[in-house]
Amino acid sequence: MRVSAIVAAAGQGKRMGDTINKQYLAINGRKILTITLLQLDQIIEITELIVVVPASDLTYCEKEIFQKTEFKTPYKLIPGGKERQDSVYAGLAALSNESDYVLIHDGARPLITIELIENALKEAVTHGTAVLAVPVKDTIKVVNSNGFVESTPDRARLRAVQTPQVFCREQILQAYHQAQAIGYVGTDDASLLEAMGQSVFLVPGSYENIKITTPEDLLLAEEILRRRAKCG
Ligand code: C5P
Repeated sequence: MRVSAIVAAAGQGKRMGDTINKQYLAINGRKILTITLLQLDQIIEITELIVVVPASDLTYCEKEIFQKTEFKTPYKLIPGGKERQDSVYAGLAALSNESDYVLIHDGARPLITIELIENALKEAVTHGTAVLAVPVKDTIKVVNSNGFVESTPDRARLRAVQTPQVFCREQILQAYHQAQAIGYVGTDDASLLEAMGQSVFLVPGSYENIKITTPEDLLLAEEILRRRAKCG
């Protein structure tokens, strides 16, 4: 099994309310993006890392991430686009010809574990796709533009979707080409397959696999990483 990993890290991180992009903030002395990449670097099936960052950060990332940390996996550092979907599309265009699967992961999810990635790869071989998800804990409401509730979906059937999301290479390429052609914009990669009427298989994620978005996420991530370091 040969897997190309695309790491979407071209967001501006505005919700952090900080001037520095959240992915360059350090947790226990290491940048969030470096921590994420080091996790993927341990997966032997991953034969290349395609890291998509803001065009303005290419030199900074090369110097502050790739020159300061040695990764075993060959990497390409490429510029992203306006939306996450544009960034992943740029990543797909940079794929080498060798992989049969594509794993797409958010640079802002450093708490992903080796076990979860390995399990997703195994399930992708069986089911064609593997997308990490957890049952939602809160009741979710659909609201209208005036702030009134329209409906309350059955919580038992709702899942919060995470990354990594793993796909057969040809299938995800086709879904992205088609989405671009018809102007469909999704907030995750799997939704592009769904828009084509294709099935998507969910596998267990983790409540710890948070996307670092706001300042409180950073505190939680620090605590989780500290606990993991202690437990070895
Ligand atoms: O914006 P959102 O929270 O959905 O971002 C999820 C991931 O997608 C982040 O790791 C972010 O860096 C990345 N992203 C990207 N290109 C964009 C916007 C977000 O690669 N234009």
